[in-house]
Amino acid sequence: MGADYVAGVDLGGTKIYTLLATTEGTVKAEAEVPTEAGRGYEAVVERIAETVAAVAAQAGARPENIRAVGVGAPGPLDPRTGIVHQAPNLGWKEAPLRAGLEARLGLPVRLENDANLGALGEYAFGAGRGGTELVYVTVSTGIGGGLILRGEIYGGAGGGAGEIGHITVVPGGPRCRCGSRGCLEAVASGTAIALRARELLDRGAGGAAEAITAATVARAAEAGDPEARAILDEAAWHLGTGLAAVVNLLNPGLVVLGGGVMRSGRLLWERMDRSLREQALEASYRQVRLVPGALGARAGALGAVALALRAGLSIDFGKH
Ligand SMILES: [Zn+2]
Repeated sequence: MGADYVAGVDLGGTKIYTLLATTEGTVKAEAEVPTEAGRGYEAVVERIAETVAAVAAQAGARPENIRAVGVGAPGPLDPRTGIVHQAPNLGWKEAPLRAGLEARLGLPVRLENDANLGALGEYAFGAGRGGTELVYVTVSTGIGGGLILRGEIYGGAGGGAGEIGHITVVPGGPRCRCGSRGCLEAVASGTAIALRARELLDRGAGGAAEAITAATVARAAEAGDPEARAILDEAAWHLGTGLAAVVNLLNPGLVVLGGGVMRSGRLLWERMDRSLREQALEASYRQVRLVPGALGARAGALGAVALALRAGLSIDFGKH
């Protein structure tokens, strides 16, 4: 009898990242391939299946020893039906991803929103280990969020809970890609930070502005550039405003912050913390810890592993 395994898949708009882990949660193999979403839904399902076969082969696992597959996908989706309602990065609408993968793989598949799996990954294997509540926020190109309440992903009525990026922090502010205005994502994401810097630079010297990213702004701010610092300060303040709404609503003990923008340095964290302190209820502020994610870009795939472990083995991480 061989060992048993689970697979965790992080499906993104540009790449598919897949892990194979033992039923103890130890990662044995990983694979990354381009999504090539332009080739259509069927082709993406096939590529996911290929990565699962590839990690199994790498680890010397037999396909029949894989107990379950967890998949994190972008966009609003319903974990119960396994349907991805809308994924603009993939060009999908009402895609029956779970059924498609189960038919292709012949294995139980569980589907979740990618930010929720980031939360579950940090909870099971990272910065949130040993707790029971966790709010996860990822600040990169966009801003995503996930909630773990009493040891479980909290999805709300239809899987849409935890969309911290779409809390209004600047009423009437810049247009957000969700259609609303002044969402946290529209004023504090990496995209928003880069846009703000380009606007400022365009006024002075045209041309060079195009190459600016949030990472450029962060480096300039750390080096003492006053304009870069002001841009980062403003984004950090808005992050604190969004966190204050979450902290007042849920009174979490732990907020784990991941994503590229959160690696912008000490200034961003200090300013965000000050904003939170000034805007959250005092008791709730005192009870919350803000910490960086421990798993980096692997959080989602490790969350998918945790989801598969729960699906295949009914493991309750909160109780061991
Ligand atoms: Zn929005």
